[in-house]
Amino acid sequence: MIHVKTEEEIALLRENNLLVSRTLAEVGKHIAPGVTTKRLDEIAEDFIRSHGAVPAFLGYQGFPASLCIAVNEEVVHGIPSDKKVLREGDIVSVDCGTLWKGFVGDSAYTFAVGGVSPEARMLMQVTREALDKGTEQAIAGNRVGDISAAVQTHAESHGYGVVRELTGHGVGRHMHEDPEVPNYGARGRGPLLKEGMVICIEPMINMGSKAVRFLSDGWTVVTRDGKPAAHYEYAVVVRPGRAEVMTDFSIIEEELKKGGRDRKGLRVGEPDWEAEQRKD
Ligand code: MG
Ligand code: MG
Repeated sequence: MIHVKTEEEIALLRENNLLVSRTLAEVGKHIAPGVTTKRLDEIAEDFIRSHGAVPAFLGYQGFPASLCIAVNEEVVHGIPSDKKVLREGDIVSVDCGTLWKGFVGDSAYTFAVGGVSPEARMLMQVTREALDKGTEQAIAGNRVGDISAAVQTHAESHGYGVVRELTGHGVGRHMHEDPEVPNYGARGRGPLLKEGMVICIEPMINMGSKAVRFLSDGWTVVTRDGKPAAHYEYAVVVRPGRAEVMTDFSIIEEELKKGGRDRKGLRVGEPDWEAEQRKD
């Protein structure tokens, strides 16, 4: 059952996703070699609670933390730990959720820890592009499969693996509502998108094979081949003509710039030669 939201409900979802974006920006400020993922989780929980909201992930189906933090070959759902120390060259996917006034915000961002390899930068860039291409399809009158196909086509055109086991989703009073929004599929298939539907589009893209496995902690999803994965997530409102993106990555990237790095971990102004030479 897909719930179309009222504008009042959408306003609360918008506020939640703004807070998620601001929380991710706060976390991003602290991402550096030597920091533990547990410390990032504490920063996020404090920030969310100081704004009168509650971390939506904490206790969700028993999840023990406020953030899901997935480093390198971890795809999603990594559990923050005081034993997990970030190192220069890592890529870190941070997924954050808030609960405020009965509604949920849910967005994710992949950060570079210092400078990362050209291969990792390309994975981050293409995953971001896949998110944008999927979002362009989130318009009234399209179908979920139009989003799915756009994400899959873009990621696979670069030889990357598209994770099948986890998907995007509707969001509202609950973190996971209908419809499922897979990152793979066929155009013209799946549920019809109507104005006021609110969905999370969240490509989980592997540098190598699409195959993943689940660790014995019951949560962490990792690539089978051990190669890195990236994950970005927008919460969007389906609208006629153009989706309304409620997640605001510009808040995150402004903070990164203040720290002297761009979104791919390059020093501000440093060109990404591999990306510039890429043929589309
Ligand atoms: Mg999420
Ligand atoms: Mg989600």
